[in-house]
Amino acid sequence: MIILGIESSCDETAAAIVRDGHDVLASTISSQVQLHAGYGGVIPELAAREHLRNISPVVDTALAKAAISIDQIEGVAVTSNPGLIPALLVGNAYAKGLAAAKDIPLVGINHFIAHIYGAFIGQPELLADAANFPILALVVSGGHTAIVVIQPDGHARIVGSTLDDAAGEALDKAAKILGLGYPGGPVIDRIAKTGNTSAYDFPRGLTGAAGKAVKPEHRFDFSFSGVKTAMLYAVKDRSLSDQELADVVASYQAAVMGVLVTKAGDAALHFNTPVICVCGGVACNSYLREKLSQEAGRIGRKLVLAPPKYCTDNAAMVAGLAWHYLRHGRSDGLAMPTNARLDHDLGIIPFAPNATMPAN
Ligand code: ATP
Ligand code: MG
Ligand code: FE
Repeated sequence: MIILGIESSCDETAAAIVRDGHDVLASTISSQVQLHAGYGGVIPELAAREHLRNISPVVDTALAKAAISIDQIEGVAVTSNPGLIPALLVGNAYAKGLAAAKDIPLVGINHFIAHIYGAFIGQPELLADAANFPILALVVSGGHTAIVVIQPDGHARIVGSTLDDAAGEALDKAAKILGLGYPGGPVIDRIAKTGNTSAYDFPRGLTGAAGKAVKPEHRFDFSFSGVKTAMLYAVKDRSLSDQELADVVASYQAAVMGVLVTKAGDAALHFNTPVICVCGGVACNSYLREKLSQEAGRIGRKLVLAPPKYCTDNAAMVAGLAWHYLRHGRSDGLAMPTNARLDHDLGIIPFAPNATMPAN
């Protein structure tokens, strides 16, 4: 089954054509990063206007790259939540129009679950094996930081999440403070390579590292506002040499990523998950990938790293995930709503090996 996926939840307009959930025939992304860079963050109304301008060309490019005509598309999937409402509406209007005009099923996709699926595109055998479950997913993106446990029957629960900033947000805000531009993740990743990770002892929120006991209910939660403030004070009223800047950045990155690695490892042991997967834009980070590999090796867990092209926003994860809903007979009506927020109950994840969900 050939599915067209559309993504417009934030500042990327993306379209992809995926066969049977895993075979990516085309994945096209038009980024608005330059447009929003001057503001240090995404302006929803500007994003919506750009999506409107870009959506048709992006879909046409994906069709051309896949050498597929629009009449060969058998289903259309679109991110319907969570995200910026003005931005989501553009993709949703487009997808609904297409579904109605071509009389093909429409599937609304949760962007957060799609990020998790990004780690498994092209690996059907991994998902088919119940022995790999429960899977622990570390979702680290611009707006979310969470640990999810997915059972073999698809039941999925967020067992921990950030109490303030997301990991990506912590990097983006740090880059803004340091005058490194937007988004911060890629530039921090690069500069940190030349810095000393132990030049500064930045706080590692909710780990008990500072001798402050962590409440049991926050064992798998995160907090990144403290490390950001500590960094702000460390550089305040100073002019940094290139090496000093690299040391600040490397120490900051090590503090943020260190917490992610510690908590993911702890959760994998606690929930007894044979697999740890990491996904979302921050999963591109080379330091995080290396440290997670070491931790997974140390505790004897298999690590599934989302490929970088499926870490940041893309539509392959949307079209791929949609196939799993459709094979369970699930689709949505044209009155499907968009929603800005993420529900902590993720429902049934349709790509789990023993998932059952009633058809509609
Ligand atoms: P969400 O999915 O939570 O709605 P989003 O879609 O904006 O947010 P993504 O596209 O998944 O988030 O990821 C963007 C984030 O990834 C940004 O915060 C960016 O700084 C970060 N990022 C990208 N590349 C890297 C990298 N190499 N290292 C660290 N962070 C990175
Ligand atoms: Mg983005
Ligand atoms: Fe995203």
